[in-house]
Amino acid sequence: MGTGHLTIDLDALADNWRALDRKSGCATAAVVKADGYGCGVGAVARKLAAAGARQFFVAVAEEGVRLREALGEGPEILVFGGHMSGDAEMIRGAGLVPMLNSLDQILRQFEALPGHPFGIQLDSGMNRLGMEAADWGAVAEVALAQKPRLVMSHLACADAPDHPMNAAQLKEFRRITDGISVPRSLAATGGILLGPEYHFDLTRPGIGLYGGMPFEEARPVVHLDLPVIQIRDVAKGETVGYGNSWTAERPVRIATLAAGYADGITRHLSNRVTLWHGDTPCPLRGRVSMDLLTVDVTDCEGEPESLTLLGERQGVDVLADLAGTIGYEILTQLGHRYSRRLAGA
Ligand SMILES: *Cc1c(COP(=O)(O)O)cnc(C)c1O
Repeated sequence: MGTGHLTIDLDALADNWRALDRKSGCATAAVVKADGYGCGVGAVARKLAAAGARQFFVAVAEEGVRLREALGEGPEILVFGGHMSGDAEMIRGAGLVPMLNSLDQILRQFEALPGHPFGIQLDSGMNRLGMEAADWGAVAEVALAQKPRLVMSHLACADAPDHPMNAAQLKEFRRITDGISVPRSLAATGGILLGPEYHFDLTRPGIGLYGGMPFEEARPVVHLDLPVIQIRDVAKGETVGYGNSWTAERPVRIATLAAGYADGITRHLSNRVTLWHGDTPCPLRGRVSMDLLTVDVTDCEGEPESLTLLGERQGVDVLADLAGTIGYEILTQLGHRYSRRLAGA
C-alpha cells in the first residue's frame, strides 16, 4: 500500500473521556467539531456514546446533521455557532440544540422554531462568541422563561492555569448567571483541569479526548506510520531535497517516504522533526515536499518498510511545538490520503 497508515485508537479515546469525566464530577459532554478533531466524527461519537457521553457539541448545524445520522436518536447535539440564517430546517430535522449567541439569533430561533430546544452562550471576556452581559440582562427573563437546556461561556486562557483571566472569567460568569435554575457550563479540557469551581453542571472536553495538551495524562489516540518507497546511499557533501537545505556531513542512508505537506505534514517541520523505527530515531532531512519526506535511516538495522511519525513515543504536541502551532491544528490537518484504521470500534 502506497499511502500512510493512520490508526485511530478508539479505546484510548474512550479512556480519555472516562478520565476527564472522573475529574469533572458532573456531566461530561464531548466536543466533536471539525470531523471529531480530524479523527472521523462517526466512529468517535459512537465510541464516546457507548462510553457514556450524552451530549455532543459541534461548531455548525451542518456538522450536527451529519452527527445525528451517525448517532441516531437520543444523544443531545448542541451547536456552538447557534442558529444562523437558513439553519431552521436542519435544526428541526436533526433535533439540534443551537447555542444562541445574540439577540438576532434569539429572535430567529423564537420566530422560526417556537418551542424547539435551545441553549444560550454568553461572553465572559473572550469576545468571540456569546451574548454580551448587557444584552443578556435585557432578555434573560424572557429567554429563561423558555427553559434553555444550557447556559454556557468559554475560557480564553484555560491552558495557562496561573493566568488571571481564568478567575476573572469565572467571576464574570457567576455574576451574570448565579441564581438561574438552568444547567451551566464553562469548562473545556483546560477548564476541567483548573478545578471543581470551574465545572458547574456540564464540562465540554475536546482536545483532551484526542490525546492533546493540556491534558498531560491523555493516552495517544492517533498513530501514523509512513511507508518507505526507496532507500539510497548519500555520500558526504551531497545534499537532499528541494533547495539543497541539508548537506550530509558523513555517508548516510536516506529513505524516501510516501507523505508530505498535502497530507498535513506541514513544511515547518522541514529539517526539524524525528520519525521512529521502533526505538531508533530517524531525523527528517531536507524539506517536506508535497507527497514525500526524506529521512535519515543510517542508524536503523536492515531496511525499514515504514517509519512512525505519531504514536506512543511522539504525540501531536511534539509536532506542534516543532512547527510553531498547537496539537489541535496538527490533528485537524491530518490528511485524507491515508488509509485509515479504527482500533476498538
Ligand atoms: C472547541 C471548544 C471546546 C473544546 O475545547 P478543548 O480545548 O478542545 O477541550 C469547548 N467549548 C467551546 C466553546 C469550543 O469552541
